[in-house]
Amino acid sequence: MEQVDFAICGGRIVDPATGLDGRGSVGVRNGKIAVIDMDSSVTFDPQHVVSADGYIVIPGMIDCHVHAYQHATPLGINIDESCLARGVTTAVDAGSAGASTFPGLRKFIAERSDTRLLAFLHIASHGLASAGCSAGASGGECDHLNQVDVTKCVQCVTQNTDMIVGVKVRVSQSCTDNGRTEEEVYRRALAASTESGVPLMVHHTMSTVPVAKQEGKLCCPSDMKPGDIYTHAFMPHLSHILDQDKKAVHPDVWEAKKRGIYFDIGHGAGSFGWTVAEICTKEGFWPDIISTDLHCESVDGPAYDLATVMTKMYALGMPLNDVIASVTSQPAAAIKRSNCLGSLQVGREADISMLKIEECDIDLEDCYGQIRKVKKRFIPVGVWRNGKRFDVSPHPNYPNIDSIKHGINAWDSTDVRDATKPSLS
Ligand SMILES: [Zn+2]
Repeated sequence: MEQVDFAICGGRIVDPATGLDGRGSVGVRNGKIAVIDMDSSVTFDPQHVVSADGYIVIPGMIDCHVHAYQHATPLGINIDESCLARGVTTAVDAGSAGASTFPGLRKFIAERSDTRLLAFLHIASHGLASAGCSAGASGGECDHLNQVDVTKCVQCVTQNTDMIVGVKVRVSQSCTDNGRTEEEVYRRALAASTESGVPLMVHHTMSTVPVAKQEGKLCCPSDMKPGDIYTHAFMPHLSHILDQDKKAVHPDVWEAKKRGIYFDIGHGAGSFGWTVAEICTKEGFWPDIISTDLHCESVDGPAYDLATVMTKMYALGMPLNDVIASVTSQPAAAIKRSNCLGSLQVGREADISMLKIEECDIDLEDCYGQIRKVKKRFIPVGVWRNGKRFDVSPHPNYPNIDSIKHGINAWDSTDVRDATKPSLS
């Protein structure tokens, strides 16, 4: 009999990093994965067995875009409540902190959370301390170039490589003095990520930086480097990834994907439209990473949690193993942590998520009150971080009428949308 602290048995183990997919057991000892048994050759003490019958057992999920800096930034949420308790073992903060405010993210959030917290460092030294366009404050974090200091950013990244996995920039008119500093901010963010040898995560919405390649101008995503991450991929506002006629993915975007740029959902409260998602996925343009962009305005809908954003991609026809890869092996590779995260391997820290796929018949809203019917959904039913089991909170109740109302109010501002405006009648 194999001596373990506990073994999760009888579930379908799916680990895209190693190609495992089948019924099996995972044994954990001293916080580490001790056994992976795919042919029932190992016996475990029944007293220490957790039944995973009917469930999917996967590497601890990684949410690659959240806003974790609660109480110090207007957008921050509690990651233990909204990530770990929703089946996510690793959250990656997407630029809530910059070089000046990063020490607090480590001391007050990362060190006090059970969820593992990693971070993209904002190119603006103050990060999202006053979050600009998405928190109701006028102005944006990169209105003045004094705050956009490449040297400080590189220094902070290189001194905190245990926690900082990349640089973040918001390439948007509303964050850059109405576009006046925009190209220079983007240039500096590219320089900082290149110099520090980490990927750049780019938020590119309502931007003066063009999607289509243009001679003598920085473009997005064409000027991103292989390994960089383009977040908010299915965003329906101007600067979306579709071609002029809004019917297909722009050829320069396809080229960027083929060059090795990761496309990430980053759902949030304004960055996911069903219409764009359908156009993209119909021609085979799937996201490489599924993430929530959870913050205080998206956590009660329309993003809810990682499982719900996975449900949306699954409803669009994304194969199950690709959905799982997009929250495990793919984000791990993007943040250069494939050596320790995103896979179930003997000797690694036991970060494990357990999900069920539930039949349902439910309406699910995007960020603009547009509804699609969902017939199957992911429900987190178990989570272990470093071998310790944590409680999973009840599933969020969607759709949320307030979130739909809020979305409908913003519907007119989108550039790609359904033929008719949604209504609540
Ligand atoms: Zn975000």
